[in-house]
Amino acid sequence: MAAPFDVIVVGGGNAGFCAAQSARQAGARVLVLEKAPRQWAGGNSYFTAGAMRTSHGGLADLKNLLEPTAQDRFPLTDLAPYTDDDFLDDMVRVTRGRTDADLARILAGESRATMDWTGFATWACGSS
Ligand SMILES: Cc1cc2nc3c(=O)[nH]c(=O)nc-3n(C[C@H](O)[C@H](O)[C@H](O)COP(=O)(O)OP(=O)(O)OC[C@H]3O[C@@H](n4cnc5c(N)ncnc54)[C@H](O)[C@@H]3O)c2cc1C
Repeated sequence: MAAPFDVIVVGGGNAGFCAAQSARQAGARVLVLEKAPRQWAGGNSYFTAGAMRTSHGGLADLKNLLEPTAQDRFPLTDLAPYTDDDFLDDMVRVTRGRTDADLARILAGESRATMDWTGFATWACGSS
């Protein structure tokens, strides 16, 4: 008998849902197991402010992530690039050096592309 799932994800928090979505997009049949009651689905995501840190190349690089009405303020706005090295420096600073350099470099290096991958921008794309 064929297995009904290709991937089983244990825990339906942010990490679990990212893994499940990624596996599903790759065509896998996915089962997410969550031990919490249904009303607590999503893990600690419920408590977050929804903030995401990303490196970026300045205002133009963020255009598709911003609300269309915000673009009216672009001519009045200066935003210096926030590089992968800036991101890494901040990681080292806030963790007082307890940062895995290899993992942090992946985190910083993939952060801007991840913002697009999340679909954050889909509601804003029609404006440009
Ligand atoms: C007040 C607060 C504010 C925050 N603000 C931000 C923010 O602005 N930006 C940001 O990026 N992060 C923020 N965070 C951090 C962020 O919420 C967490 O890093 C993130 O939600 C962790 O996701 P996770 O999937 O790793 O773990 P969790 O969200 O903890 O998910 C783990 C899931 O696995 C389930 N589970 C555990 N064991 C089992 C088992 N044996 N079988 C089945 N299921 C199991 C749990 O019930 C849970 O649902 C904040 C956190 C808090 C508490």
